[in-house]
Amino acid sequence: MNKLSIKDLDLQGKRVFMRVDFNVPVKDGKVEDDTRIRAALPTIQYAVDQGAKVILASHLGRPKGKRVEKYSLKPVAQKLEELLKPQYAGEILRENQPASDPTITEVVFADECIGDEVEAKLAALYSDQVLLLENLRFHAEEEENDEQFAKELANLCDLYVNDAFGTAHRAHASTAGITKHVERAAAGLLMEKELEYLGRVRDNPEHPFVAILGGAKVSDKISVINALIERRVDKLLIGGAMAYTFFKAEGFTVGKSLVEDDKLDTAREIKQKAEAAGVELLLPTDHQVVDSYDPLHSRKTIPVEFTNAGLVGLDIGAETVTLFSNALKDAKTIIWNGPMGVFEEKGFDEGTIGIARAVAEAAKRGATVVVGGGDSVAAVTQAGVADQITHISTGGGATLEFLAGDELPGVAALNDKE
Ligand code: AMP
Repeated sequence: MNKLSIKDLDLQGKRVFMRVDFNVPVKDGKVEDDTRIRAALPTIQYAVDQGAKVILASHLGRPKGKRVEKYSLKPVAQKLEELLKPQYAGEILRENQPASDPTITEVVFADECIGDEVEAKLAALYSDQVLLLENLRFHAEEEENDEQFAKELANLCDLYVNDAFGTAHRAHASTAGITKHVERAAAGLLMEKELEYLGRVRDNPEHPFVAILGGAKVSDKISVINALIERRVDKLLIGGAMAYTFFKAEGFTVGKSLVEDDKLDTAREIKQKAEAAGVELLLPTDHQVVDSYDPLHSRKTIPVEFTNAGLVGLDIGAETVTLFSNALKDAKTIIWNGPMGVFEEKGFDEGTIGIARAVAEAAKRGATVVVGGGDSVAAVTQAGVADQITHISTGGGATLEFLAGDELPGVAALNDKE
């Protein structure tokens, strides 16, 4: 990686603004899934251990530039504190901490992300505390990458660290603008890991290289598909609703399955491009369908070519899981993004779970496996194989844009290694 890393910085006594991804599901004031918070812990702990004053900042949800209580990061402060000091689950006794012990005992929460309150709390911060700012997106200026707002954020700190890969494809004040007004801007440990693994897969994949793509829309994935073909992926496996656009483009009946009618030509072009480049493009051979008039009682698995006008395809079938699994057998690099069916509906998650198991098998025998995108990541977790995956990417859109070869503004804004 040619970007400056947090490990290249002298953090002692410095105020460090750390952009993290704490965009987690919150219900009734409680964090429902703390995966993203856990993922940021090593960088936070590292900075505190090195003597930095850490200021954490994130967005949560889409408050659209206004203060919306349900999008407050306050519940995240609580959860973060729990995770940072599991050994102090009860009362916090700062007095009993030896001065040299860098263990974080408290997360101080500021009700704002800029202004006097934040500055006062920062000035009073102990070396064993971290400061978490309120949701950046309570200010419309964040997403507008407003210069003045970026300066105000930068005024809080000496150094900037970005550990939020998932938002690096957006040029916002906290991911891009701020970097112009700080001493140095570096990647956090999590960001570094993303760039290393995704960079390797994008620029130097070991062959055979197989990409599995699914999800709802071809349109979201056109640029990554084109980039993969240009970079000579060996096999491209396409499942999920995306496959129906390809089927319809070939003249198959797809019934009431989800199709992007304005992307039929695109699907044909992709197919031709793959053929010309010698890329094997595999589509499902069977799928799980329901009758659109009786969806609850009509689930069945049929060959794709038996689809009639009244049917809706909602998952790949068992034969396709085997076909795709076999296609992974000799792969040395695999990337997977997007579910094979309506993963969130019980009964239509089987195809996606089957693929999760297959990629984990491949990883076990030594393939580099990178999984990205919410549903695919949830599937490897649900299948109990998450720890076997080489790299689970925290990005959805950012991962696809990076793999497509686009420069991510949040990465471009970091200083290059000296
Ligand atoms: P994406 O955001 O493009 O990765 O798409 C994820 C969404 O695709 C999920 O919400 C799935 O329910 C949906 N999806 C996958 N396969 C199908 C299908 N066969 N029919 C309808 N939706 C699907």
